[in-house]
Amino acid sequence: MSVLFPAVAARSDRPALRCGADSLTYGELARTAGALAARLDGLERVAVWATPTARTAVAVVAALLAGVPAVPLNPRTGERELAHILGDSAPGAVLAGPEDMLPEGLAKLSRIGVELDATGPFPAAGEKDVDPESPALIVYTSGTTGPPKGVLLSRRAVAASLDALAEAWAWTSDDVLVHALPLFHVHGLVLGILGPLRRGGEVRHLGAFSAEGVARELGAGGGTVLFGVPTMYHRLADALSHDEELVRALAGARLLVSGSAALPVHDHERIAAATGRTVVERYGMSETLMNTSVRPGGKPRPGTVGTPLPGVDLRLVDEDGSVLGAYDGETVGEVQVRGPNLFSGYLNRPEATAAAFDGDWFRTGDMAVREADGTVRLVGRRATDLIKSGGYKIGAGEIENALLDHPGVREAAVTGEPDPDLGERIVAWVVPTDASAPPAETELADHVAGLLAPHKRPRAVRYLDALPRNDMGKVLKKALPAAGRAGAF
Ligand code: ATP
Ligand code: MG
Repeated sequence: MSVLFPAVAARSDRPALRCGADSLTYGELARTAGALAARLDGLERVAVWATPTARTAVAVVAALLAGVPAVPLNPRTGERELAHILGDSAPGAVLAGPEDMLPEGLAKLSRIGVELDATGPFPAAGEKDVDPESPALIVYTSGTTGPPKGVLLSRRAVAASLDALAEAWAWTSDDVLVHALPLFHVHGLVLGILGPLRRGGEVRHLGAFSAEGVARELGAGGGTVLFGVPTMYHRLADALSHDEELVRALAGARLLVSGSAALPVHDHERIAAATGRTVVERYGMSETLMNTSVRPGGKPRPGTVGTPLPGVDLRLVDEDGSVLGAYDGETVGEVQVRGPNLFSGYLNRPEATAAAFDGDWFRTGDMAVREADGTVRLVGRRATDLIKSGGYKIGAGEIENALLDHPGVREAAVTGEPDPDLGERIVAWVVPTDASAPPAETELADHVAGLLAPHKRPRAVRYLDALPRNDMGKVLKKALPAAGRAGAF
């Protein structure tokens, strides 16, 4: 295969990475990560304490150069989940910055310090010639629907998915990516760090997200591309009303990309109205890397995730296992994908891996419809977002979008609850814009039924101060019943 980082050695004076006060050119990255890689010899697997810093990027690049699979750890992971991940992945060492305080669970592991200057006594290593099918990374899923699973991502799959995105987005070495995502998932690490490095472009990580940081780096800072999750775009949409610099920065960017969860139509519209720009949505997951994307410059259609990326086959399958032929924008089926972007299996879970596949097709667990032109519109996850009510199959997403269209609703999530009459009934969880004057239950139910259809009317509205979300801003629907307070605010 082509090496993962064709750019590392070649473009030595070009900036590669900046995060806060730390910055590295390609030459410096090659030397720094190369020196660290030389210290990883003989290790089978390493954990990386994945703070949002340049050190994490250096550590992961070092592991890739050394051909040692890296397990990025979320520094905010609780004790029990950390123990689960360490027990499951059994890393031989942990790579961390000298100043990082590591929790007790990691004390048993030998610690290898990640330094940003490459003047140490170790010889620098180049990229090892390893089997392209061997794992580059073991990434744990977000745990949105169950305990996190270790996903084995081969070097080939990482390279293939990044190259497909490059083709779809015309992503080149001239691009300067701005991002502020965590570095322990596919989105922030594979797309956000390895993506620019494979292209030979630059990445600027903000350390922590702020609208001011985005305005600075994308605008005067010369950034061309922004990657974010919907909660970030929601905050940018809020800030656009009073931040002219941010309006100019977003308007001038080459590409604004959102993923990891659905970007509400309302936020799409607010950003488009203020900047004239359409946010490009892409759809992927830990197990498949990227599956589909809206194409930049294509006809904007908020609420859709575009068409399959180059090399990716996608089909919808109904409950009986029949492949849907209709591109009618209505018939819902499970998304199944195959292609060079797929993972090699779940670590230590052969049964879960077998159950996740139908032949060479991966069952995503996401439900979608296809429009006449092949565009995919996700309606939600099979496990939590598909409500079977009164003989209808209703996607939570469109009701959430309808609720967000009401000026009195700031955040919304929709679930199904058992109902003796309907099978399941639609329940809306709402964070009101003004906590002291939440819109009435009947007003919201009428609003949804009026916009959509009578059978999509919420049967109950529960008011919350905030929706339970994980580090990627994904709503944890399983935590909703505990978070909710019935009745008036
Ligand atoms: P777990 O598998 O542990 O329950 P998870 O599925 O949230 O967690 P990830 O692999 O990080 O973990 O997330 C992938 C999921 O995120 C997809 O299956 C899909 O449901 C959702 N997703 C990703 N991109 C989008 C998008 N653009 N629109 C809607 N949903 C998206
Ligand atoms: Mg999942």
